[in-house]
Amino acid sequence: MSDARFKFGLLKRRRPQPLAALFPPTCWATGQSIAPSDKGLCREIQEQLRQQLLWPYCQRCGSTLGPFAARGSCQNCPHRKIGLDRIVRVGTLNGPLSRLIHSMKFARHWALAAILAPWMAEALRHAQVDAVDQFVPVPLHWSRQWRRGFNQAFELASELSGIFEAPCDDLLRRKRATIAQTAMQNATARLDNVRGAFILPSHVDLSGLNVWLVDDVCTTGATLHAAAAALRNVSATNRPASISAVVLAVADAAAIPDSPNTSL
Ligand SMILES: [Zn+2]
Repeated sequence: MSDARFKFGLLKRRRPQPLAALFPPTCWATGQSIAPSDKGLCREIQEQLRQQLLWPYCQRCGSTLGPFAARGSCQNCPHRKIGLDRIVRVGTLNGPLSRLIHSMKFARHWALAAILAPWMAEALRHAQVDAVDQFVPVPLHWSRQWRRGFNQAFELASELSGIFEAPCDDLLRRKRATIAQTAMQNATARLDNVRGAFILPSHVDLSGLNVWLVDDVCTTGATLHAAAAALRNVSATNRPASISAVVLAVADAAAIPDSPNTSL
């Protein structure tokens, strides 16, 4: 359990055990009664997430590929300068995954991180990732974290740390508050918005490590690439072996169709 949860008093929101016996668990997405072994989501939502997780996507930018595409990159990525070695995702920002993320961030349902992080772990296993040495959450500016009460990326990274038994450290700092990426008009504006926004303290040594940035959503990749640039901007002897990213969802025009029958 992360120290941050104690610091922000978030554990107080957990339902006491005697009440948990009186109120059986329900699905976070549909409200249906579920078994404790269903881990927060009904079978229908689990199946939808599983279908998203298995769908082919570009390993360099995370965009959705056709159903019969071979693993690899999309047609755009060979011509792009990409700051990450690879990206792993659970799915796209639509359907129940989008609503679950929105609920986690904006309805302060921080406990959803423990429900959703195992799906990120499953995505990493499905992508046959076997080199995970360090998780690094994408930080919020302190003012935004103060208003929200928690950083969802840190909560997800902490859960992944427990699953993979790899350290999770809040290594990056936001030098300045940035405008929410969703408010930016285009990819160029988003790149300009976050360029140079992150800093890595000079004493941090990541030499030879396979580092995984963790965030909830990748919109254009601008935030992840700015964070990766900060991790790479260390002395030559301290550089990580690789810098990759794992996210819950990629905002994607070629979104996978989802069932409209669920609501959150
Ligand atoms: Zn691509």
